[in-house]
Amino acid sequence: MKKRLLIIGGVAAGASCAVRARRLSEDMEIIIFERGEYVSFANCGLPYYVGKKIKERRKLLVATPSYFNKRFKIEVRLEHEVIAIDRNKKIISVKDQKSNQEYTEYYDALLLAPGAKAMKPPVGGIENEGIFIVKTIPDTDIIMEWIETHTVKHALVIGGGFIGCEMAENLHSRGIKVRIIEMLDQLMPQFDPEMAFFIHSHLRQQGMILSLGTRVMEFIQGENKRIRVKLSTGGEVTTDMVICATGVKPETELAKMAGLQLGPHGGIQVNGYMQTDDPNIWAAGDVVESINIISGQRVLLPLAGPANRQGRLAADSIIRINPAPFRGIQGTSICGIAGLTAASTGLSEKNIKLLNLNQKKEAEADNSIQYEKIYLQPYNHAGYYPGAVPLLLKLIFSKPDGKILGAQSIGTEGVDKRIDIISMAIQKNGTVYDLEQTELCYAPQYGSAKDPVNLAGMIAVNILQGLHPVIHWKDIDKNNVFIIDVRTEREFAIEHIPSAVNIPLHSIRDKIGSLPKNKEIALYCQSGQRSYYAVRILCQNGFNAKNVIGGYDLFQAVNEK
Ligand code: FAD
Repeated sequence: MKKRLLIIGGVAAGASCAVRARRLSEDMEIIIFERGEYVSFANCGLPYYVGKKIKERRKLLVATPSYFNKRFKIEVRLEHEVIAIDRNKKIISVKDQKSNQEYTEYYDALLLAPGAKAMKPPVGGIENEGIFIVKTIPDTDIIMEWIETHTVKHALVIGGGFIGCEMAENLHSRGIKVRIIEMLDQLMPQFDPEMAFFIHSHLRQQGMILSLGTRVMEFIQGENKRIRVKLSTGGEVTTDMVICATGVKPETELAKMAGLQLGPHGGIQVNGYMQTDDPNIWAAGDVVESINIISGQRVLLPLAGPANRQGRLAADSIIRINPAPFRGIQGTSICGIAGLTAASTGLSEKNIKLLNLNQKKEAEADNSIQYEKIYLQPYNHAGYYPGAVPLLLKLIFSKPDGKILGAQSIGTEGVDKRIDIISMAIQKNGTVYDLEQTELCYAPQYGSAKDPVNLAGMIAVNILQGLHPVIHWKDIDKNNVFIIDVRTEREFAIEHIPSAVNIPLHSIRDKIGSLPKNKEIALYCQSGQRSYYAVRILCQNGFNAKNVIGGYDLFQAVNEK
């Protein structure tokens, strides 16, 4: 009998595994069982189909069962749900959802790729009409129909992660008034709060309403199929539709029933070859826990990139071609939000603080991560070339070795490129010295001779080498520190820090005699660049001068109300 590979779930991880297995073995019998109506569909494209940016529904179908069959000799059984695994007999039980018939199939190797299920908030009225999740093509069919048949003017998006933000963008682009309700104090939790501030301001400028730090308490059916939503703030909002984007949970029911080992976050635990604790069963994608390569911790990371790579690697391991083990993840992700791009890689400062807190609780010796962070706002390409726009970049690195721990960037252009470069540097265990020296392609319309990535490295290296003393807003003792705003008189007049004295950069050398030698001096400008030049002048004249990292822009972000 031929070796049989059975695959549960036919989208990112399952489909990747199936086709890779076929390319490695012409002999193996490969069957995909998919509970839904479609195999290998573009779930990442669903919000853009709702927003009509993807106009044709068929474009969401990356591959069909007949394509799998003709090109890869892979059988796909749609609307066939796997309902049990008997590990002793190496069989699965399957329910044909159309006929309601149940049957069993034998496997030599089994891959679990059932993904993660979309969660709905557990509150009263959640099953009422007009409340949707976005996970499958049929989910979007229902949403599209609702929008078209109910003259939707207002939508409520619950959850401000990347799916919530993408749905908000796409509903907004259809002329629907959008309110996002998020129980945390910020959208996009992978970002640090001061970075998320720039996302908040952008979305508010676009006309979206954000209710942060707010929970949904109850849904009540209103008149004309409208939905009344009670909020934890005591208020109530009436809307035409609700999108729940409140996170996903790994689909581990089958694994649990089969007694497979789960990890601390409830995902299936696998080794570097995506193998579970049963040597005949592999698992990949949203259902598994992965190791974060920076923190070393097991985490859930429901993203398409890891799912595809893990599915492929599982096939290598199943066919036994001695693959290199899965390297782990670092959380590189990107989201387009109404004209803004927000991307990040590695650990956030929030993550590091939490790791340090837990480390201190658990260990006697203090091995907490010593880190520094910088913010810069360089142009996406040469400033003199038409269309240059600034992007905001936060880089976090360890002290004193300069190892890159994480980066976050927000802007309208060039964000993806910088985060991808830094992501690669992190994978190669890179330091800020690598960013300083890295050689990147340059012509004025694409980048700068000193690319934002080089600049980030240069700033960080200057800090580590003592050439650039820095201070953070929260660490400034306003009573004992002399604060200088080095922006122009005009900028100062518009807004400034109350206790600051205005000495524009061009006149700092003339005023040097009037500055206190016995006091710490903190200098700021809008972004931190001009104040860095001023710090260099003062330091070389024997002053204890420090640059306030992030400048006035960051002051506003950290003081967001
Ligand atoms: P899935 O793609 O969820 O596939 C699992 C399949 O298994 C499902 O089709 C399910 O029906 C089937 N299944 C489950 N149980 C059974 C069973 N018992 N029997 C048979 N079949 C079963 N990620 C990104 O990186 N970037 C993005 O821009 C992005 N956008 C997204 C937008 C949306 C709206 C959504 C929903 C997700 C998005 N993701 C994005 C996440 C990404 O799609 C997932 O991480 C990825 O699809 C996970 O792949 P998977 O194969 O593990 O699971």
